[in-house]
Amino acid sequence: VGAKPKPHIILLSSPGLGHLIPILELGKSLVRLCNFDVVIYVVETHTSPVETQVLQSAMSPKLCEIIQLPPVNISGLIDPGATVVTQLAVMMREIRPAFRSAVFALKFRPAAIIVDIFGTESLQVAKELGIPKYVYMASNAWFLALTLHVPTLDKEVEGEFVHQKEPLKIPGCRSVRQEDVVDPMLDRTNQQYFEYVRMGVEIVKADATQRVGGYVSFGSGGTLSAEQMMELAWGLELSQQRFIWVVRPPTTKTGDGAFFTQGDGEDDMSGYFPDGFLSRIQKLGQVVPQWSPQVQIMSRPSVGAFLSHCGWNSILESITEGVPIIAWPLYAEQRLNATLLTEELGIAVRPKNIPAKEVVKRGEIERMIRRIMVDEEGREIRTRVRELKESAEKAVSEGGSSYNYMSVLGKELEKSWNG
Ligand code: UDP
Repeated sequence: VGAKPKPHIILLSSPGLGHLIPILELGKSLVRLCNFDVVIYVVETHTSPVETQVLQSAMSPKLCEIIQLPPVNISGLIDPGATVVTQLAVMMREIRPAFRSAVFALKFRPAAIIVDIFGTESLQVAKELGIPKYVYMASNAWFLALTLHVPTLDKEVEGEFVHQKEPLKIPGCRSVRQEDVVDPMLDRTNQQYFEYVRMGVEIVKADATQRVGGYVSFGSGGTLSAEQMMELAWGLELSQQRFIWVVRPPTTKTGDGAFFTQGDGEDDMSGYFPDGFLSRIQKLGQVVPQWSPQVQIMSRPSVGAFLSHCGWNSILESITEGVPIIAWPLYAEQRLNATLLTEELGIAVRPKNIPAKEVVKRGEIERMIRRIMVDEEGREIRTRVRELKESAEKAVSEGGSSYNYMSVLGKELEKSWNG
């Protein structure tokens, strides 16, 4: 009689590096902390060379099994102008049969299925197998609370959320101001809104929802308009502070223009900067096309601030290194995140206007950089972010809240596995 196999946990990641990276991290933690075998299913998109790189580096050392599900063609199923949220939701709907077959073809019955927010329709597979099912929300509790509450808001609020006179009340959390409402809630007639409400309904059906607590870079998908790039270049130069800037070609407007094409395209960016910019900043800064090893750069002690689009992974990486943030929200729930960083945690400064709506001018950029890098305000912010770094470290070390949650989850899964 052979030894009883280790329980297998199935993870399903939706496309996009901002989704894949935290799922890979979760997989590694489950293997290390809970002694499970982990199989991660990712949806192949064929669009991002960086994704291939990230997957390859996740394979060594090989802690988890990573299986690519075949790409799905959704072109006939969505409107030409469909948002990224709609595209992801439809892709994840279309992938269900392939995911289901793959899971049913496994030699062992898995111990549990964990999906991200876009994969909630695949929780059905866990239901069919009669195994525990979880949603992994790689963002903050405020965004999770809003998402869980959106089906209620949908019934109770009349008219557009952005036109309400009062901030939206969220149980257990601070209210959400109209300007911070997440992208899928901006237009209640758009398909992405219906998809988002559905996710709010489906998350509740899971057995639990896990959230993770905690240069210039705009995440995996962020892009700027040509005018905004010029202003940012001037702002950086005028501040006279040293910098590393991960640059992507501009799009017609500031937003999530590179979501499906991270790291794709040309490397010669010289045409997008002010005349002579690259030679003038030679001693001051470094311009990196497309993609940089962000975590590695952030861990250098010389990094004094991070101008970030406020994707949740980037925020956690910044806090983990004790680096203050210049918040530049672009899409998804990033305005909400920026408000959390500035008003609740006090570890960031942000422009007066919303960058995705209005161009942030060079003078304001220069001032924000100097506020953090030079002024007394920056010193205070740095102290707060270092305190937060310490509590984040405590949370993930033995006896900390995140560590304990993982142990409880592990015990729960082992218990259900052993029957
Ligand atoms: N990232 C990176 N290099 C880059 C841009 C992004 O390594 O040039 C990584 C970053 O460290 C983070 C992830 O990509 O782990 C982006 O996730 P985030 O949640 O910040 O933003 P999203 O891509 O979801 O908008």
